[in-house]
Amino acid sequence: MTAGTEPSIRWPAITKDIGSFRIRPNLVDYDAACAAFTWDEGRRALSGLPGGRGLNIAYEAVDRHAAGSGAGREALRFVRADGSTHSLSYAELAEQTNRFAGVLRSLGVGRGERVFSLTGRGPDLYIAVLGTFKNASVFCPLFSAFGPEPVRQRLTLGSGRALVTTRALYRKKIAQLRGQLPDLRHVLLIDADGDPEPGTLDLAALMREAPPDGDIAATQPEDMALLHFTSGTTGTPKGAIHVHDAVTAHHATGTFALDLHPDDVYWCTADPGWVTGTSYGVIAPLSHGVTAIVDEEEMDADRWYRILAEQGVTVWYTAPTALRMLMKAGADHAAGHDLSALRFVASVGEPLNPEVVVWGQEAFGQPVHDNWWQTETGGIMISNYAATEIRPGSMGRPLPGVEAALVVRDADGKPVIRDGEAVLVTAPDTMGELALRPGWPSMFRGYLHEEERYRRCFAGGWYLTGDLAKRDADGYYWFVGRGDDVIKSSGHLIGPFEVESSLMEHPAVAEAGVIGVPDPVAGEVVKAFVELRSGWEPSGELALDIIGFARKRLGPAVAPRLLDFTTALPKTRSGKILRRLLKARELGLPEGDTSTIETPPPNATPPDAAGTGLEPK
Ligand code: AMP
Repeated sequence: MTAGTEPSIRWPAITKDIGSFRIRPNLVDYDAACAAFTWDEGRRALSGLPGGRGLNIAYEAVDRHAAGSGAGREALRFVRADGSTHSLSYAELAEQTNRFAGVLRSLGVGRGERVFSLTGRGPDLYIAVLGTFKNASVFCPLFSAFGPEPVRQRLTLGSGRALVTTRALYRKKIAQLRGQLPDLRHVLLIDADGDPEPGTLDLAALMREAPPDGDIAATQPEDMALLHFTSGTTGTPKGAIHVHDAVTAHHATGTFALDLHPDDVYWCTADPGWVTGTSYGVIAPLSHGVTAIVDEEEMDADRWYRILAEQGVTVWYTAPTALRMLMKAGADHAAGHDLSALRFVASVGEPLNPEVVVWGQEAFGQPVHDNWWQTETGGIMISNYAATEIRPGSMGRPLPGVEAALVVRDADGKPVIRDGEAVLVTAPDTMGELALRPGWPSMFRGYLHEEERYRRCFAGGWYLTGDLAKRDADGYYWFVGRGDDVIKSSGHLIGPFEVESSLMEHPAVAEAGVIGVPDPVAGEVVKAFVELRSGWEPSGELALDIIGFARKRLGPAVAPRLLDFTTALPKTRSGKILRRLLKARELGLPEGDTSTIETPPPNATPPDAAGTGLEPK
């Protein structure tokens, strides 16, 4: 990896006038906040379980507000398809989550055992997350859009003991897998309506019978609370382990990066199937006692503007892909809506184009604040702040309490270590691997059952993020790209291996290589290069059939949108598909080091044109 030293192209900085703020931002002087803040101070903003029985996310998020003046305050406000809303107050949420914990107890689901969800963003999902914490069990949310194969794989890896889902999803994705999931004892249907499917339970009936109160199970800060699967390049998804102490970081970053204040109406658009949807869709806002909006539907430009306006959203946390879609829909859509309540907009998940940051001023009356983090970090690590200057295209600066650095990598992409310490990039505008000093509370504590894989994430005293970045002379970080092949499409992180494996289950497919290709809206879309088994001929029809097959297994978010046939995938001598090379060829970029290549370049064996660039209908 060569270290680029050319300065990034810069847009004019956006400065802030503190005098013009309706509410004084929580962080005004960045350097002073960094100098003063410690994680112990962050812990003092929490309550701890009564009687000194430890720390539990659910108590911090729900019961401490329900026990005080916040009892009647709306905790979660759900927006239905027709725009109508229904809410749970903090007191109601405390009762419902007690009942859910009671249901788990009555079923014998124990401490540390995994409770999965596969359902849309309705109240039951949020009650299940928090009720699981109250039972000292571990929650693992899955996207309801996942196909049967990703679901099976994650339930198996996580030894799911209980699953919360709907009748339709159970029939479509789970029923056929039950025989392959011996650990899965209980399937709780949220819409059983007195008539559960064979082998399932009626959650509502069990909730009615469960006690509305009771002590939260004693949990310690280091007890496992959440399991979030994230995709890797080299194989199966990894289950990142998070502990109850993560709430310390969620709360502090809610203060500094999202600028939450007590009266806020806050909307995080992420699904809890992605870590953002739990850290910042559930835990951070509720730990602050604010009202969190949950849209039960999928993204739609007019609908989203309506929600921002009608629900009086004050703080909005969303993703670049959504912002790009709004931008594409045109500023007219914003113009008809009263967004005057909105005072802070933030974004995460992918690089945020400077155009979008600036466009925010036109559409929302303020710039978009980019921030950076990943499943493994559990919470925001680098951010732009309400009161501080924005440099469009930059992710901002590390949170108070977070020590970030850029590690020098060698030609193989490995960190350079000298005397046991990683060598750091010191010159401004020079690329290195983004690294974080371990010790922040929401840091993942392991990959489930993969000790060695976890250990490899750390070197020379740092956690290595796998992302490449630069830092300017004033300490602002600029994202360069991921150091590996993972594809980022509309907020989903997609591991090529998972897609390739599914493609290969199609009878015509001998082998497949999958890459991400740039897309103005989704960030990237998945493109597959497929080698056919002998006896099969490439055709447009076959390409569509294979794409349709993958969509059924993986769900539309993960399956390829584009497919080319090829007769020779580039591979290393050890048999690994060189996705980097596929991508370079696809995009007409330099091919880089091809010394390990096994097969000849494609101009010797041209890909068949028949399937090029086919999009499914
Ligand atoms: P995930 O674990 O799914 O949340 O994905 C984390 C990855 O998303 C990071 O390692 C980055 O590659 C990317 N990412 C997240 N936030 C940003 C951002 N603000 N700018 C650029 N990339 C980002």
